[in-house]
Amino acid sequence: MAQVQRMSRLMIKTLRDDPADAETLNHKLLVRAGYVRRTAAGIWSWLPLGKKVLDNVSRVVREEMDAIGGQEVLLPALLPKEAYEASGRYEEYGDLLFRLKDRKGADYLLGPTHEEVFTQVVKDMCSSYKDLPVILYQIQTKYRDEARPRAGVLRGREFQMKDSYSFDTTDEGLAEAYQLHRAAYIRIFERLGLDHRIVSAVSGAMGGSASEEFLAPAPAGEDTFVDCPGCDYAANTEAVTFKATPADASGTGPVEELDTPDTPTIETLAAHLGVQASATLKNLLVKVDGEIVAVGVPGDREVDLGKLGEHLAPAVVELVTAEDFVGRPDLVRGYVGPQGLEKVRYIADPRIASGTAWITGANKEGTHAKNVVAGRDFEVDDYLDVVVVEAGDPCPNCGTGLQVDRAIEIGHIFQLGRKYADIFSLDVLGQQGKPVRVTMGSYGIGVSRAVAALAEQTADDKGLCWPREIAPADVHVVAAGKALQTELALDVSEKLGAAGLRVLVDDRPGVSPGVKFTDSELIGVPKILVAGRRSAEGVLELKDRRTGEREELTVDEAIARLT
Ligand code: ATP
Ligand code: MG
Ligand code: MG
Ligand code: MG
Repeated sequence: MAQVQRMSRLMIKTLRDDPADAETLNHKLLVRAGYVRRTAAGIWSWLPLGKKVLDNVSRVVREEMDAIGGQEVLLPALLPKEAYEASGRYEEYGDLLFRLKDRKGADYLLGPTHEEVFTQVVKDMCSSYKDLPVILYQIQTKYRDEARPRAGVLRGREFQMKDSYSFDTTDEGLAEAYQLHRAAYIRIFERLGLDHRIVSAVSGAMGGSASEEFLAPAPAGEDTFVDCPGCDYAANTEAVTFKATPADASGTGPVEELDTPDTPTIETLAAHLGVQASATLKNLLVKVDGEIVAVGVPGDREVDLGKLGEHLAPAVVELVTAEDFVGRPDLVRGYVGPQGLEKVRYIADPRIASGTAWITGANKEGTHAKNVVAGRDFEVDDYLDVVVVEAGDPCPNCGTGLQVDRAIEIGHIFQLGRKYADIFSLDVLGQQGKPVRVTMGSYGIGVSRAVAALAEQTADDKGLCWPREIAPADVHVVAAGKALQTELALDVSEKLGAAGLRVLVDDRPGVSPGVKFTDSELIGVPKILVAGRRSAEGVLELKDRRTGEREELTVDEAIARLT
């Protein structure tokens, strides 16, 4: 009977009003329904019902990761800084990183993502090609000191992530591990009941080449993506690439575009720019008249727009000058339209209101423009309102007008290649007896964020409305009346529990049926079974939380219907 949770013994307090600071649906509802509680900005406590939902998401993720041969491990979140210094990310992450010292004064950090540590573990454990391929994963607490932790558990400073890492000796092996993850992610998000799109993405601070994001369309999302109604093109607006055609440039210099192959690597880009490809990302973002006016720290990519604005209008902006941009094709780009280079666009973002923005506009394909001139090549007067792609812009593949939507990034998969293996000299002995450099992938799912995304996508005006697999219970039994109703409710709950169902039963004494009904809708278990008026005859009412459909059933019929 362990499956029956009596609300009279559950630590829950539902709220009629939205928390004062809540802007998004998931934040309001998860707090009001007693799933989570704010401990500090971006730091959340998971209460009994919330913990069940979080565990359900983890279970689905775990089952599908196991199914592709992933081996679960648990690495520390508290990490000495050395490995992150070696990769350059101790600096690059900037303020995003939680740094701390131990009693001896040694530097530590709280892990934001674990490429470095996993690389070291595999270096310790695997010495031969026979030890590979391997896929390792963990479901673990991550720490990022986000600039604006908002939207409840959607963007925490402490949050749960499933991160996995693949290790292979060949590029084909990596491609296979990537495809395995991609397929597993599709199954995971389908099982979770999350409507999602797979879009091309930029690799950002991870480095590496190919990368795709799993986006859950929702107005509360902080990402913008384009979707083509005419073909299968879909991309994060950060990664939209338009075909480059030579511009008819006049001004201080010819506008140049890179003529790159379809999926150029960092090396191709570097070769074109005539610089060394560097594994360590640099900070320079935009130079105006030779002076650096905006510096973005890779990893958060936020720049001070005020500072940029002072310089932008009349100046010559050298967008791509040197190695600073190598490895960061996502930073900024010229918008290359049918007439050649038309303008440089910046992504408008809610952050703009507070003075910072993503100055990106990317370009995973590496189509960069050189010697872009403000005023000639892009509009400068109104740049705060400009978005990187607008609805109706032509699809780079087929020319159909693009759709633009908001979404929540719920997963991100990367082919890292040999970036971290190079940093830590991760080799195994190959078939020919010679050392072979290992190639890696890294793959993340926001486990706690998925709870928020699900709430955003499935809630209605009455409250949360979970898909069954994720819900904190299969059925919510409501005792709507006095002793007789409570007795029937508890009896049917025991039977449902014995039949293997997870039951939440509202047996709270002294709580009116009206309050119990409202709470049951707020809590969002998919089926609600009410012991009410006709309890004496052994008749219950079964309600579907989503459709509101009701039917009267005997106890046996109800049990048969629900099991
Ligand atoms: P975002 O663009 O939203 O900041 P990210 O691109 O920085 O996310 P990744 O480094 O790709 O995140 O991490 C993998 C996954 O972890 C993301 O796809 C997302 O689902 C989740 N995630 C990242 N940051 C947070 C956060 N602050 N709170 C909750 N989940 C997060
Ligand atoms: Mg981030
Ligand atoms: Mg992102
Ligand atoms: Mg990401």
